[in-house]
Amino acid sequence: MDITFLGTASAQPSSTRNHSSLALRLGSDVWLFDCGEATQHQIQKSTVKMGRIKKIFITHTHGDHIFGIIPLLSSRLNGAGGLAAGHEDPRPLEIYGPYGTRAYIRTGLTYTHTLLNSPYVVHELRTLSDSQDGDNTNLQLNPAELPNGRNILQVDGLWEAIFADASVSISAAPILHSVPCIGYVITEAPVPGKMDPTQYTDHLTRNNVPRSVLGRIQRGESIELLDGTILQPPPRRKGRKLVILGDTHDPSAIAPLAMDADLLIHEATNAHLPGVDPNTKDSDTYETVEARAKSRGHSTPQMAGVFARRIRAKKLVLNHFSSRYGSAYQCQEAMYIMDGIRRLAVSEYGGEVINAEDFMSIYV
Ligand SMILES: [Zn+2]
Ligand SMILES: [Zn+2]
Repeated sequence: MDITFLGTASAQPSSTRNHSSLALRLGSDVWLFDCGEATQHQIQKSTVKMGRIKKIFITHTHGDHIFGIIPLLSSRLNGAGGLAAGHEDPRPLEIYGPYGTRAYIRTGLTYTHTLLNSPYVVHELRTLSDSQDGDNTNLQLNPAELPNGRNILQVDGLWEAIFADASVSISAAPILHSVPCIGYVITEAPVPGKMDPTQYTDHLTRNNVPRSVLGRIQRGESIELLDGTILQPPPRRKGRKLVILGDTHDPSAIAPLAMDADLLIHEATNAHLPGVDPNTKDSDTYETVEARAKSRGHSTPQMAGVFARRIRAKKLVLNHFSSRYGSAYQCQEAMYIMDGIRRLAVSEYGGEVINAEDFMSIYV
């Protein structure tokens, strides 16, 4: 399980930060979270394989999070980077997003006369104030769009298990921003614990059982031997939990799902860095910068740190930086500023904080 950041900028991209997108690799599949402008270019410059993208999750329909989806679909679903003949994946590309995602994609494809060779489907996470049914457009389905896109309604304020298989599930909750916005929580199913083979060998030898059964025990099976001994598998350990938020000035509603996350990805659009950032205005204080960030639906590093502490996250990654903050790899000044941002988050959180950079990968 690893994450590659494809874009870490807020409203304005820069030469070192592209618009929002990140790729989560789960085994051989890739799930994309957000798809800002030029995401497919970033994918081509990264180790992420276009043909491996099986699901796309959109946090909100602001352009810096969705403008890249039409060009990405036209490449992804026309075979670019696809699998070899005979190995095609029968699963359609699944897109999840807020109300309006389906209409935006259908409209974009229709008016650009884009024909796709493979199917896609859009599931919308509807809030209580959204229309609870329908497509939000009178346009006919695109020929590649499957008609079974779900409108997923909130239950007790949450969208739980919008997708789940034997190894992973994903849930979501609304988070506060200037427009409807969604945070996602990915939870791995409990995984087999580490096995100590020496605990089993005497029993196997006594019953003349080949050691190959150790593989079955490791996978979670309990085995009864001829003499009545039952060999129990090692206890399963909790799977990993990732929290991927969109833009927000208050993600409280996702807290019940997000507790004890192994990794929290939280935006930190604006920061006050007197003595570090030469562009700091004399009239600004921590309070004025926070008030301005909140008024635009965004957070400071300290706000991200407070939320990370609240949910007892084991690690915090900051992203979605103002265009003022170039990549730390750009020059020494940018490195000092980015380190200042990181320290502000640490001051409230206390744990490990990492600033996301374009093309950075993190193992979970
Ligand atoms: Zn944004
Ligand atoms: Zn936004």
